[in-house]
Amino acid sequence: MPEAREALLERLESQARLLRRNVWRALRASGGGHAGGSLSAADMLAALYFHTLKVRPHEPDWPDRDRFVLSKGHANAALGAVLAQAGFVEDGVIDRFYGMESPFGMHPDIKMAGVEMSTGGLGHGLPVGVGMALGARIKGRSFHTYVMLGDGELHEGSNWEAAMSASHYRLSNLTAIVDANRVSQSGHVAEILGIEPLVDKWRAFGWEVREIDGHDMGQIVDAFGALPFNRKKPSCLVAHTVKGKGVSFAEDTYVWHSKDVDDEILQKALAELTPLERATLTETLEPVTTELEAPR
Ligand SMILES: [Mg+2]
Repeated sequence: MPEAREALLERLESQARLLRRNVWRALRASGGGHAGGSLSAADMLAALYFHTLKVRPHEPDWPDRDRFVLSKGHANAALGAVLAQAGFVEDGVIDRFYGMESPFGMHPDIKMAGVEMSTGGLGHGLPVGVGMALGARIKGRSFHTYVMLGDGELHEGSNWEAAMSASHYRLSNLTAIVDANRVSQSGHVAEILGIEPLVDKWRAFGWEVREIDGHDMGQIVDAFGALPFNRKKPSCLVAHTVKGKGVSFAEDTYVWHSKDVDDEILQKALAELTPLERATLTETLEPVTTELEAPR
């Protein structure tokens, strides 16, 4: 019997809350890192790894798994933490963020189970995602490829070369997710180099586009559930988010793009992120199987 919508959203919101706590936990372990872009992406990552993606945490190289590429690789605190919550890696790895010999680095590294591409140099994820989606077609596999991009990352021209290629090849098995938190490393995107009208740009490049509130779990689940938005085009989800979401002093500011985290800051952050009722550690360690019923 399918999970009731209310229970589903409650479960995913609990995972997202725990994910934000784990991001701060990781940043404290390393002494600092990229809070803002990790926290803006947290709700979508929770929905992907606990509902949408067809993955097997205990068989990370399963050939038919969906591919997820975090092109905005500086947000790896969130990717590593969600991989731990989903059971790809053990929970303790969160406490070894950016540590010597740790697979959990400041940017994604394919030596960590569940990471599909080492990223961090911006503008590389979507071109590789195009290759993954083309590869699926050539090999006759039904997996879907998702690439998450930052809005500031869209300053990189390679994204638009990839966007042209994806529509040329009609890659309906490819989805770009833009974490549109409006803020970049050193200021607001609109002030550094404007990218609007963003939706019109993606449409002009031949993509089917939807816009959502990237912190509204109902909208997130509905959008992922509607993929592909068009059976002859790649899909783009423009998710409007808040950089640093969830902790008041980190929200909507470039200052928290990357910053040191000491014990005092950690406690201030966690005080604003009290666990939701269902977000117990026991629950997060339950094995997840999120295989979709129908191929895409
Ligand atoms: Mg941004």
